[in-house]
Amino acid sequence: MRTERPSRIGILGGTFDPIHLGHPAIAEESRDRLALDRVILIPAGRPWLKSGQQVSAPGHRLAMTRLAVQDRPDLEVSAIEIDRPGSTYTIDTLADLREELGGGVELYLILGMDSVGELRRWRHPERLFERCTVVAVSRPDSRDVSPAEIERSFTTAHGRIRTIRGPMLQISATDIRLRVAEGRSISDSVPSSVERYIREHKLYLGD
Ligand code: ATP
Repeated sequence: MRTERPSRIGILGGTFDPIHLGHPAIAEESRDRLALDRVILIPAGRPWLKSGQQVSAPGHRLAMTRLAVQDRPDLEVSAIEIDRPGSTYTIDTLADLREELGGGVELYLILGMDSVGELRRWRHPERLFERCTVVAVSRPDSRDVSPAEIERSFTTAHGRIRTIRGPMLQISATDIRLRVAEGRSISDSVPSSVERYIREHKLYLGD
C-alpha cells in the first residue's frame, strides 16, 4: 500500500523592496532540489530588522511581488504578513500557516545565507526550528554557514537544516534601489513588469 507523504511547502519571506530575479531563482531551485509541492512568497509587513531604514509601502511591495510571479504558476504569493498588524516576525507567520494549512504539511523556510547569518537576532530562533526546516541558500558575497555551525548555535536545529549551493545570482534589492536613484538600468535584475511598476510609481528616486 502506498502511503502519502506530507505535502512540502516552501516559504520565501522577504522585504521584496523590490522583488528581483534572485528571489524566484532561489524559490525554484529549492523546489527542485527538495521536491517541494508549493512555494509561497510572503512580503514582510513591517520588517523589524530593517526598522532603521526606509521601506516602501507594503502595497507597492505586494503588487511588485504579484507581478514578478504572474508568469510562474509554480509560485504563489501570500499577504499574510502584510495583513497582520504589528511588527512582522517569522515565528508568528509559521504558526499562522500551520493553522491555515493543517497538520499534514512540512514547512521549509528558504533563506539566503546573509539571513541565515542573522538568525540569532530573530525572535525565538530556537522555536523556529520546531516549526520548520531551514533551507539555507548560498549567495554571492555572503559566507556559507554550515549546518554544524547552526546546530552549535541552536540545539533545536539538529536535522532541520538543508543547504543549497544556489543559482548564485549577483543581485540585491539594495543595488537595484541605488541604480534606480542614479538613473541606471535594472532590466538585467528584475522582471520587466516590475521595472515598469517601479518607473510608473517613481519608486527609489530618493528625496
Ligand atoms: P536588501 O538588499 O534590501 O537587503 P535583498 O536583495 O536581500 O534585499 P530581501 O527581500 O531582503 O532581498 O531577500 C529575501 C530573502 O531572499 C532573504 O532570505 C535573502 O537572503 C534572499 N535573497 C535575496 N537575494 C538573493 C540572492 N541573489 N541569492 C540568494 N538569496 C537571496
